[in-house]
Amino acid sequence: MSHLTDDQRQDIEDARAAQSLTRRPTSAAVEELMFTPVNVLDKGFVRVVDYMGDDAAIVQGARVSYGRGTKKISGDRGLIRYLMRHRHTTPFELAELKIHVRAPIFVTRQWFRHRTASINEYSARYSVLEREFYIPEIESIAAQSESNRQGRGEAMSAERAGEVARILREDAAHCYDNYLLMLNETETGETIDESKAGLARELARINLPIGIYTQFYWKVNLWNLLRFLSLRADSHAQYEIRAYADAILAIVETWVPHVYEAFADYVLGAGTISAQGLSLLRAALTSTAPLDPERFGLSGRELRELTDQIPELAGRLTAKASPPVR
Ligand SMILES: Cc1cc2nc3c(=O)[nH]c(=O)nc-3n(C[C@H](O)[C@H](O)[C@H](O)COP(=O)(O)OP(=O)(O)OC[C@H]3O[C@@H](n4cnc5c(N)ncnc54)[C@H](O)[C@@H]3O)c2cc1C
Repeated sequence: MSHLTDDQRQDIEDARAAQSLTRRPTSAAVEELMFTPVNVLDKGFVRVVDYMGDDAAIVQGARVSYGRGTKKISGDRGLIRYLMRHRHTTPFELAELKIHVRAPIFVTRQWFRHRTASINEYSARYSVLEREFYIPEIESIAAQSESNRQGRGEAMSAERAGEVARILREDAAHCYDNYLLMLNETETGETIDESKAGLARELARINLPIGIYTQFYWKVNLWNLLRFLSLRADSHAQYEIRAYADAILAIVETWVPHVYEAFADYVLGAGTISAQGLSLLRAALTSTAPLDPERFGLSGRELRELTDQIPELAGRLTAKASPPVR
């Protein structure tokens, strides 16, 4: 709980101390996690504040039954795997998770593109933002990727990465100092200069960089959560949002272990192969002759994505087929 003030820690301890009797299904493992922040990045966190349902509730919903799940655990697991495999999605929508997140604004900008959730964010019109800025670890400060315009490439020298971290820190401090000057108040809320008016919070905030931390509550059903995780726990997602997705994945594993297992098998660890890719794959299995990918109508990029998934195929292509370019 290192990213919190003493008051915030006390609030969490009070919330954890309160208990209520319920007939609703609960998960002992999630109850243990409730309210406690899982640290993410340098000052962020994710914490579960509420949830509804469990593996058995998904089975119950799928069967529209009166009782809880099937009689056997193996039956629940098998049905959940079937639902996931065949994209029978609505039973997963019957379970819900509500989390409290502290993340930099540039992460929330990506996060909030996932429209199928309910959000309430901290108001910087109403309240003063905290002096909390994301400064990447030296190892995460990398150069622009040459092959992927949307990503990071090689790590930078320690000297250059240190310079970047210093610029980020100095700019953040400078902007925040000016934010307080415009508000005409100190971090603890005292007026700086009695002769000056404090600028409205909604205006003072506009010079703050997008690395500043914000907070929000996020409530989402399990299916849309899995959709979020499939995109944001993926290697194509930006490292910073991936760090949050990984923390939430661990919560999902604790909460609904059968769903997590099916999701890992049929979505996270699975691949996508087009009709053309399947034709090439079938040909590779039925013939030993070198294969000409052009005959199968695969573009260079599609071929690269296919051989990324099945590297063994690269050795089966004709010599003239250009080697997958990174
Ligand atoms: C690696 C990566 C790079 C990206 N790059 C960019 C970028 O450069 N620029 C950019 O703007 N965005 C970018 N995005 C955001 C992306 O386009 C999606 O907006 C985001 O991932 C949310 O996905 P979603 O729409 O499936 O999720 P949700 O909004 O949660 O929707 C879930 C599903 O509900 C359905 N749905 C939701 N709303 C509607 C609707 N209004 N109409 C029809 N169906 C709907 C769709 O089936 C959708 O898939 C990027 C995302 C990723 C993962």
